[in-house]
Amino acid sequence: MPPTTAPQAERTIELPQFDHQPRPYDGPSREEVLALRQRYVNPGVLTYYREPLMIVEGAMQYLYDETGKRYLDAFAGIVTVSVGHCHPHVAAAVKEQAGTLQHATTIYLHPTLPRFAEKLASKMPTGPNGTPLDRTYFTNSGSEANELAVLMAREATGNQHVIGLRNGYHGGTPNTMGLTAHGTWKFPSNAPGGIAHTHPGYCYRCPYDLAYPSCEMKCAKDVANVIAYETPGQVACFIGEPIQGVGGAVLPPKEFFGIVYDAVRAAGGLCVADEVQGGFGRTGEHYWSHQHFGVQPDLVVMAKGIGNGAPLAAVTTTEATAATMTKRIHFNTYGGNPVSMASGLATLEVIDAEGIQENARVVGGRLKEGLLELRDKHDLIGDVRGLGLMLGVELVTDRVAKTPAKQEAADLMELAKERGLILGKGGLHGNTMRIKPPMCISKDDADFLLATVDECLGIIEEKARHGSSWKA
Ligand code: PLP
Repeated sequence: MPPTTAPQAERTIELPQFDHQPRPYDGPSREEVLALRQRYVNPGVLTYYREPLMIVEGAMQYLYDETGKRYLDAFAGIVTVSVGHCHPHVAAAVKEQAGTLQHATTIYLHPTLPRFAEKLASKMPTGPNGTPLDRTYFTNSGSEANELAVLMAREATGNQHVIGLRNGYHGGTPNTMGLTAHGTWKFPSNAPGGIAHTHPGYCYRCPYDLAYPSCEMKCAKDVANVIAYETPGQVACFIGEPIQGVGGAVLPPKEFFGIVYDAVRAAGGLCVADEVQGGFGRTGEHYWSHQHFGVQPDLVVMAKGIGNGAPLAAVTTTEATAATMTKRIHFNTYGGNPVSMASGLATLEVIDAEGIQENARVVGGRLKEGLLELRDKHDLIGDVRGLGLMLGVELVTDRVAKTPAKQEAADLMELAKERGLILGKGGLHGNTMRIKPPMCISKDDADFLLATVDECLGIIEEKARHGSSWKA
């Protein structure tokens, strides 16, 4: 199956307009919900705001709080709602499936699972040497899918060592937490063996203080040293996000993954593309973010946008690699659940039918251009990067020293929220704004986002100049 690429000519996308009026909310108050949550829910739950935002309804790229206030969701529920909150086609498919057959494990045949797997296979790029990637395992989360990819690679190669990228995020299970290379996401008691990390191609913070292209890709070539020093010379696999998500939309130079994949394959390993955030057309130019780099992974891991918010994830690989899993029984009670399958199938149909990938290219391009203009205006913006609707804006208090602007990033989140804009935040220091909205976002939404970020940065800079306090 040839790689699916977006048409290059610019065309106007007519996305369906949903004239949405939120329903009057008469549920428990925000204070009651907060008190219940504080009393009964794991206290380590992440909230980006000083006071958690309460959300009671969603419609396409917008969310509504309990007062009916509308927010442009520029973070897509953590890069998950790919085609819009409660998209009518997806919601109808889920409702229909939930009313017909809500649960069946993979020990039974049920029609939705292979239909979705077939559709997914039709969207996959070719694997190494033109081998089709058309065998899929379904799980419930990206962590489980990455964990399974590691297991499959270890079984297929007989090797143990796994290479990840610094600044990467792959999940919260033992091996995926080990692969995640951000100290803030690591628990001291979890230290799985056999995992090493190489440089991520983060040009803005080059570990060698070099500049592209005169650097000659020293960072990518260092993977050979990692293999030589930290493994027995043979590895099971490399796992990398083609564009780092949690790490703050880090987009390496085009040659980066070719160099890394070659070194890993020379050491007997398989290559895994973690497309949990970058897949399904989000980068605009290609359906899969790794296609930007011209590489062919052996396994592709998917979650988040695959089901528009359903608990659904997958690993797709070649027949030969998949066959290794027949050595033992591997079972997942909810993997392939009919309701999740229906949600996934409907989501892929919408991406095709509504020109979602092309919209990501066009609106994402406009957003990036606007953000680069804001960089010229606001000293706080150190770097603007990413592709399509997977963008990052790294804030610094000093452009020369590149000092992370942590407090300013937190302030921007608060001020934007007050003005009806939800942004994401990430990077090692939490100083990179992550802009990854539902891919149905319009040009008017993009202009609203740019104007709001411009206004908020102006307020923050004014505050820094005069030391005056403000109230979010
Ligand atoms: N891989 C990437 C690139 C992710 O961004 C995430 C989650 O943010 C995961 C894996 C883990 O997915 P999940 O949270 O569904 O376990």
